[in-house]
Amino acid sequence: THDIHIIGGGLAGSEAAWQLGRRGFKVRLSEMRGSGERTPAHHTDGLAELVCSNSFRSDDDEKNAVGLLHHEMRRCDSLIMAAATKAQVPAGSALAVDRDVFSAEVEARLAALPNVEIVRERVDTLPAAGATIVSTGPLTAEALAGSIGRATGAESLAFFDAIAPIVYRDTIDMDICWMASRWDKGDTKDYINCPMTRDQYLAFHQGLLDGEKTAFKEWEANTPYFDGCMPIEVMAERGVDTLRFGPMKPVGLDNPHWATPEHPNGRWPYAVVQLRQDNKLGTLWNMVGFQTKLKHAEQVRLFRTIPGLEKAEFARLGGLHRNTFLNSPVLLDRQLRLKSAPHVRFAGQITGCEGYVESAAVGLMSGLMAASELAGREWQAPPATTAMGALLSHITGDAEADSYQPMNVNFGLFPPLHDVRKKQRKEAYTVRAKQDIMGWLDSFAPAA
Ligand code: FAD
Repeated sequence: THDIHIIGGGLAGSEAAWQLGRRGFKVRLSEMRGSGERTPAHHTDGLAELVCSNSFRSDDDEKNAVGLLHHEMRRCDSLIMAAATKAQVPAGSALAVDRDVFSAEVEARLAALPNVEIVRERVDTLPAAGATIVSTGPLTAEALAGSIGRATGAESLAFFDAIAPIVYRDTIDMDICWMASRWDKGDTKDYINCPMTRDQYLAFHQGLLDGEKTAFKEWEANTPYFDGCMPIEVMAERGVDTLRFGPMKPVGLDNPHWATPEHPNGRWPYAVVQLRQDNKLGTLWNMVGFQTKLKHAEQVRLFRTIPGLEKAEFARLGGLHRNTFLNSPVLLDRQLRLKSAPHVRFAGQITGCEGYVESAAVGLMSGLMAASELAGREWQAPPATTAMGALLSHITGDAEADSYQPMNVNFGLFPPLHDVRKKQRKEAYTVRAKQDIMGWLDSFAPAA
């Protein structure tokens, strides 16, 4: 017997299980991977597998909303943040991780909690009774998605997410590429840069337009892209320079291979392709911003025209997947409970937040909510001036229900500080949030 059933051991479900398990509640955590099941994007049986990028984005907690979210989660004893710190790899001011070390750490810490039972099973229907958290993510298995659809009486919305390719480091030609971060002064050379001349860029752009893409099924044809994850060929269609002002932006990147007596540090290329370290060993590098739905053979052919990647071998090619999420502002109450069946709580990306960190943060809050409910305590939400509170308010009511789209955390979700000068505003948001999260922890104190 258990106090609560958590379905889905991804970013959100693992975090929720941790928060509940640490408070002494008996948790059954059901994860279908490991029972012979996979989603179209997961490749392992590990808990909290990162399916695409290995980055938790900016770790700057003074001027950046996701960095602030990191800070708040750390204050709340987040399992996901602790494991990320343990698995960290260099990525400038971003928090990037070795995905295998990260997943193993999450699993080991959960397995060490005696009252958390990790069960490898697929769940096909929403439990009729008993405290439940559903955190099955954007690729929720079909039968359960159907069961959720019937319980919500609404069609779930769907859009497309694309993933970027990963290259083996030792197949990158460093006589052509070089290590640097944008505008760096020589100490943070975290990215591999592949330089392109104008002619090379124009040919590459044309290659993207002409390349054979994975065909859409008819029902998929009108599904919109989420802007943060737009495939490069779709960006290429928007204009010849769109990529050069996006992921292939060359500014601040002196190519030392192009040094001349007048330019001893080298020159900026016309465009660059950047790769970021993807695992702790430094053997895998992902192509930054290169999500794509080009056919696999076409990706290999076209990406090998990128200078320095002529002999590249790919550990993973790009792809495209469905995303499932609820119209939460309509269907869920302020505590993430299904209004029509309040024993069921939702967490993670299925609630319509977007991204690893946000999903884990919503998992963390759902765990705390369930813990207070089980303990018979009144729940007190984190203030809307904090990143966690702002995200929660957005999901559970403040967002426009008619046009609800997955959302990353951002300062636009925070109650505005109009009287602070624009230049100082981001810092003012984070200062206020850090005070308020501590106030909340002091007064609500969901102690472990
Ligand atoms: P997940 O981490 O997906 O976890 C859900 C878990 O539930 C999975 O382990 C799954 O196996 C399990 N499950 C599903 N159905 C069942 C069932 N019926 N029974 C039992 N278990 C079940 N975010 C980023 O921040 N950066 C990115 O680069 C990025 N790229 C992405 C690329 C793709 C293709 C996709 C689909 C998503 C991407 N995301 C990215 C979003 C990211 O995956 C999510 O934000 C995050 O993983 C969501 O966490 P979650 O816990 O809600 O779901």
